[in-house]
Amino acid sequence: MLDIRIEKAAVLKEKPAEDKLGFGKHFTDHMFVMDYSTEKGWHDARIVPYGPIALDPSAMVFHYAQELFEGMKAYRTADGDIQLFRPMKNIERMNATCDRLCVPKIPSEDTLQAIKAVVSVDKDWVPHAEGTSLYIRPFIIATDESLGVHPSHTYKFIIILCPVGSYYAAGINPVKICVEREYVRCVKGGTGRAKAGGNYAASLIGQQKAEELGYAQVLWLDGIHRKYIDEVGAMNVFFVIDGVVVTPSLEDGNILPGVTRDSCICLLKKWGVPVEERHLSIDEVIEAHRNGKLDEAFGTGTAAVISPVGELFDNGEKMIINDMQIGPISHRLYDELTGIQWGKKPDDMNWTVRI
Ligand SMILES: *Cc1c(COP(=O)(O)O)cnc(C)c1O
Repeated sequence: MLDIRIEKAAVLKEKPAEDKLGFGKHFTDHMFVMDYSTEKGWHDARIVPYGPIALDPSAMVFHYAQELFEGMKAYRTADGDIQLFRPMKNIERMNATCDRLCVPKIPSEDTLQAIKAVVSVDKDWVPHAEGTSLYIRPFIIATDESLGVHPSHTYKFIIILCPVGSYYAAGINPVKICVEREYVRCVKGGTGRAKAGGNYAASLIGQQKAEELGYAQVLWLDGIHRKYIDEVGAMNVFFVIDGVVVTPSLEDGNILPGVTRDSCICLLKKWGVPVEERHLSIDEVIEAHRNGKLDEAFGTGTAAVISPVGELFDNGEKMIINDMQIGPISHRLYDELTGIQWGKKPDDMNWTVRI
C-alpha cells in the first residue's frame, strides 16, 4: 500500500472540447510521481500539478535509453462511473519490461493504486462523448547523473493522463500498410517483447519510409528469416485466411504481448472461431490473397482497438483486402471489446475494474 501525498494544482486548466481531443495532445491537471534509489527502494509517491520535470543533462535516460512505458485507458460508463480494462495485464507487462531493461520492478498492487489515485484526482477529465476515453501513460526513466554504461541506481516512475478522442470519429476507415523489407524492428534475444521507447526510435525510419509511399503503418518481418510477420507499428496483427484467424505467436519474443491481442484471442475462442497463434510468413499471406482466401486483416491495440487493414503493399504489389471494408470478424471483435470497455455489454470475463 503506497502512502500517496497529494498536492493539488492551484489553478485548473480549461478542458478541451470533447469533439476535438485527438490523441496525446492535451494533458490533465495532475501527474503521479515516485522515485527510486538503491537505499530507499521506490519511495515518495505523490500526485502533483502536471508540469516539467528537471533532470541533469547527464541523466542516463538521455544517453542510453533506459526507459519503458505502458499504455491503457479509463472509460466513462453510461452511469457516469469510470472503469479500467484489464489493468493487471498492463501492470504485469510493465514489470516484465522492467526485468528486461534492468529496472527495479514496482509491486503490482502499488502501480494499480497509483493509477486509480491519479485518475480519481483528475476524474473530471475522463470525457463523456461517444468513443472518447482517458489515455493513461505510465513510464519509468533512469535518472543517474553519469555517462557510465550500466543500469541506473535511481529512477522516476511517472503517470500522465490525456483525454483522447474517438479514433473513428469519421467511421472505421481501413488503413493501408506497407511491408518493410530493409529494416527490422527487433531481433531474437532483443527487446521486441518489451514496451521500451528504444524500440520506437529504431522503428521510426521504417515508419517514415512507409509514410512517404502513402502508407499509414509498417508491417514488420522477423529479423532472422526476414519473412515471418511480427507486427504492425504499434499494433499486433491478425489475418483471416480461409475462415481461420491467424496471428504471430509470442514464442520468439519478437512481438509485444498486446492486451488487445490477448482479449481478441479469448473472445474468438469463446465464440468457437478457429484461431491459431503460429509462425505466419508474408509468402503465405500473399499466396492466400492470390487464391482469394485472404478474408480479412486487422491490427489490435489500445488506441484504436481494432484497425482493419484495407491494403497491403509489398515489393510493388498492391493487395486490396475485403474491398477496403471492415470484415465481419473485425467488426464483431470491435463491437464486443468496445461494448465491454464502455460498460455497454456484459463483462462475462471480469475484465473491467471500476475506479
Ligand atoms: C503497446 C503496443 C502494442 C499493443 O498492445 P496493447 O496492450 O493491445 O495496447 C502492440 N505493439 C507494440 C509494439 C506496442 O508498443
